[in-house]
Amino acid sequence: MSEFVDKVSKRRTFAIISHPDAGKTTLTEKFLLYGGAIQEAGMVKGKQNMRHAVSDWMEIEKQRGISVTSSVLQFNYDGFCINILDTPGHQDFSEDTYRTLMAADSAVMVIDASKGVEAQTRKLFKVCAMRHIPIFTFINKMDREAKDPYELMEEIEQELGMDTCPVNWPIGCGKQFKGVYEREFKKVIRFVPVQGGKKEVQEIITDYDDPELIKEIGEDYYATLQDDVELLDGAGAEFDLERVHRGELSPVCFGSALTNFGVEPFLHHFLDYSMPPQPKQSDDGPIDPFNEDFSAFVFKIQANMNKAHRDRMAFMRITSGKYTKGMEVFHMQGNKKIKLSQSKQLMADDREEIQEAYSGDIIGVFDPGIFSIGDTICTPKHKFKFEGIPTFAPEHFARIRNTDTMKRKQFVKGVEQIAQEGAIQIFTEIGGSMEEIIVGVVGVLQFEVLEYRLKNEYNVNIKREPLGYQFIRWIDNEEIDLYSLNLSSDTKRVQDLRGKYLLLFSNQWGINWATDKNKELILSEFSKN
Ligand code: GDP
Repeated sequence: MSEFVDKVSKRRTFAIISHPDAGKTTLTEKFLLYGGAIQEAGMVKGKQNMRHAVSDWMEIEKQRGISVTSSVLQFNYDGFCINILDTPGHQDFSEDTYRTLMAADSAVMVIDASKGVEAQTRKLFKVCAMRHIPIFTFINKMDREAKDPYELMEEIEQELGMDTCPVNWPIGCGKQFKGVYEREFKKVIRFVPVQGGKKEVQEIITDYDDPELIKEIGEDYYATLQDDVELLDGAGAEFDLERVHRGELSPVCFGSALTNFGVEPFLHHFLDYSMPPQPKQSDDGPIDPFNEDFSAFVFKIQANMNKAHRDRMAFMRITSGKYTKGMEVFHMQGNKKIKLSQSKQLMADDREEIQEAYSGDIIGVFDPGIFSIGDTICTPKHKFKFEGIPTFAPEHFARIRNTDTMKRKQFVKGVEQIAQEGAIQIFTEIGGSMEEIIVGVVGVLQFEVLEYRLKNEYNVNIKREPLGYQFIRWIDNEEIDLYSLNLSSDTKRVQDLRGKYLLLFSNQWGINWATDKNKELILSEFSKN
């Protein structure tokens, strides 16, 4: 095997999806612990490193101690090179969070065992399901009181419409958590709390049929385990790796990230069942990640990392070949040869320039304002374009007005540029002007970022009026008479920058009305670029 093929086949790039507080950060930290040599993206946990480089609008981030941007962490484990794409949670949830999932080959879904499937997990799951990527479930916090494991599996299946297959099975929970039964190996990994206030526990492995086990976990728990094993082996969904790879069946592991229990077994299972980078569809057929010609696509643009330079960074997922510093590539959308220099090591402590990266990796390159989300980078000798990255439906809306008529130009330029970076989406009334704009965002924090940036970078003050809409849908019908549609009185017709028509709804009822009363109408939650 060539060195190149070996490197690519050992790459795993995944995102973690979860609801805030489920334990994503804790789990990530434990993963990195196993990786040993921690290389950090420097935004989530390495904020200090970023202090000198952050732009002013990131002051918002510092003041609140949250991260506005997603980051990538890379670590090596057991011969694999693993990239974790971080998806920010809480109020900084933004469209970037969704786009990050476009750069992942699989997802790890962390669920709080006492809460089950929660709102944000559901949202992120939808994007994964749209891409049919494999999803690995980690049911966390088993050291606390938890829902019944059968109930949890059922909830995942019912709410997310995906089959589950437990890889291991918990024995008790909370104070009575005894460990997990590894189904394939027929062994029990016992959860043994450590005295002396230490958080991390010991993992002791015992054979399922070892008489010692009964003594250790007690007769009642052993009897329950026997019933569970019989039931799971008899009635559960069969493990089928192909279905896992198609995103139809999720392998499920139980554990407790905080006490570092079940994390390494989960990582092992993940590495066993996950796939190296997969081909990506282009207008010239699928692009093979093992092809040595370089290609990549832009999935995120971050503006003004350094205010002194007014620069932007374009984050790319490498889809084939190898990146080497200063290489010449072809930018399809710009129809130009460019040099990919100054590629910052997104993963290194101090954003050092990286020398090389492979199919599956993420690089951040200096963007003099030429890239857009979804752009394709390839080699001059083999040109093609990847499919665009969908635009996701925003969930919060506001009307914004420029308060100084003398600054109309700056206002329009600022709003358009910020929208181009993908931080906000802008809409106007049908046939309306850019004087008054409806802004849609995925996370409310983006409104503040917008206001702050317009003031600081474009010297424009705005008035912002929140709008009560909750849902937006693109109208997929190419030719439709917007005004002949039968809509509820609180449904609003708008258009985006490309002139596409959309509908704004105050509630689900309005959407139902629109689809019930207009049978021909096709609405969609995503818009393909
Ligand atoms: P995130 O918001 O998903 O990144 O969640 P964090 O990793 O920050 O965890 C949220 C809270 O849950 C923190 O207080 C963690 O210490 C706690 N936590 C995480 N994992 C576990 C676990 O396995 N058991 C218990 N008891 N607490 C946990």
